[in-house]
Amino acid sequence: MNIALIAHDVKKEEMVNFVIAYKAVFEKHTVFATGTTGTKISEDADLHVYRLKSGPLGGDQQIGALVAQNEIDLVIFLRDPLIALAHEPDVTALLRLCDVQCVPVATNIATAEMLVKALDRGDLSWREVVHKYKSYKRSGTEG
Ligand code: PGA
Repeated sequence: MNIALIAHDVKKEEMVNFVIAYKAVFEKHTVFATGTTGTKISEDADLHVYRLKSGPLGGDQQIGALVAQNEIDLVIFLRDPLIALAHEPDVTALLRLCDVQCVPVATNIATAEMLVKALDRGDLSWREVVHKYKSYKRSGTEG
């Protein structure tokens, strides 16, 4: 599964601790992250991540593009709920695309924990059908 991790500055430490706590789960999957979040996760939690641009420089939009292509199976986006950011429209667009594609998304640690446990139990394996259908369509065999 492809997982996207994003944390605003006040939530970065929480994200790193979360990744450390569930590292055994994350290691079984492919993890994408926005720039600074990705650097912190790879340095402090020692987890391999594919780093995109920093959020304010387009990283949220890059993840949004992957979601739009239905390439991301789970998004954990620990937002700062107390301030408005310059790239707020990118955040809103990303969350909207998750709803468009029906991608499980958590914006706080309580939901994130439930989703990661569900992922580990195999509850998100229906997403594999999405991937299979996509490659079926790509191969042009859909008739
Ligand atoms: P960052 O971006 O990981 O580069 O800090 C997160 C964001 O602000 O969306």
